[in-house]
Amino acid sequence: MFSKIGFIGLGRMGHPMARNLTKARFEVVGFDMSEAARHSFAQAGGQVGQTVADVAGNADLLITMLPTGKIVRQALLEEPGFAAALRPGTLVIDMSSSAPTDTTSLAGTLNRQGVTLLDAPVSGGVAKAVDGTLAILVGGEEAEVERVRPVLTAMGASIIHTGKTGSAHCMKALNNYVSAAGLVAVSEALHVGTQFGLNPETIVEALNASTGRNNTTERKALPFMVSQAFNSGFAMNLMAKDIGIAADLAADLDLQVAELALMARMWREASEALGPEADHTAMHQFLADTIRR
Ligand code: NAD
Repeated sequence: MFSKIGFIGLGRMGHPMARNLTKARFEVVGFDMSEAARHSFAQAGGQVGQTVADVAGNADLLITMLPTGKIVRQALLEEPGFAAALRPGTLVIDMSSSAPTDTTSLAGTLNRQGVTLLDAPVSGGVAKAVDGTLAILVGGEEAEVERVRPVLTAMGASIIHTGKTGSAHCMKALNNYVSAAGLVAVSEALHVGTQFGLNPETIVEALNASTGRNNTTERKALPFMVSQAFNSGFAMNLMAKDIGIAADLAADLDLQVAELALMARMWREASEALGPEADHTAMHQFLADTIRR
């Protein structure tokens, strides 16, 4: 059992995930580079570490929930350098959606100081992070996955062991590619159907009753896209990053994957056009502007 958990990255996902660990009676010391995120975590009753030693010095488990694998590496090995404070035998779980190549490289570096890295990215968005019902993919040796299972169970409803370290990050990127392709297809159907004269609510109802049903038709189309609220809590630049990871993986494997390459380009262009604050559901707005001949 883990007595003390350091948790780095208290953003949209990390904050509720760390809170759920506290509710499950783990002792959690949180950290975020953003003053606002630290303040919000403390306001919610969380314990915030001020120094590297506070967060990592006594931890037997360190969790990262940061935007990218490059930032995870930087926070652990460079600035502020949490890994230097970790004792041999400590486990690190990167729950961010990182690139698997970054993960295997970081695992090698940490391994040389006796620290084991597991990857455990999540799916389900902010609502499931709050409820503690995330889907969690986990990569690592069986024995270590079993050791961390009670910790993951405090944040997720399903825990899927995907294989060795890095495999969960590979699977997460592939999942987000499939999810993003589904969102684009739904958005295109909405734009074409409404131009024809169909009602958007009818389009979504028909898709949900038919074989076109997917996560976007069920959970995103009406509340975030048709409504133009565009506030699902998952940033477009993070989605574009994930599909880029999947496309890079395919290229590294010397595979030509036509729709994946198209999705990587579309999401990168949309993210560049709409800026860093855009929600990923704003792809619907981007397509409204680009779909007309
Ligand atoms: P976010 O931007 O809301 O949170 C990231 C947090 O990391 C921020 O609070 C930021 O201040 C902090 N941070 C950045 N660099 C740091 C550093 N060097 N040291 C300490 N803190 C630092 O992002 P999020 O939506 O919580 O996503 C986190 C990860 O989870 C990403 O990899 C994302 O792709 C993935 N993810 C997000 C969702 C979602 O619905 N939002 C769902 C599944 C997976």
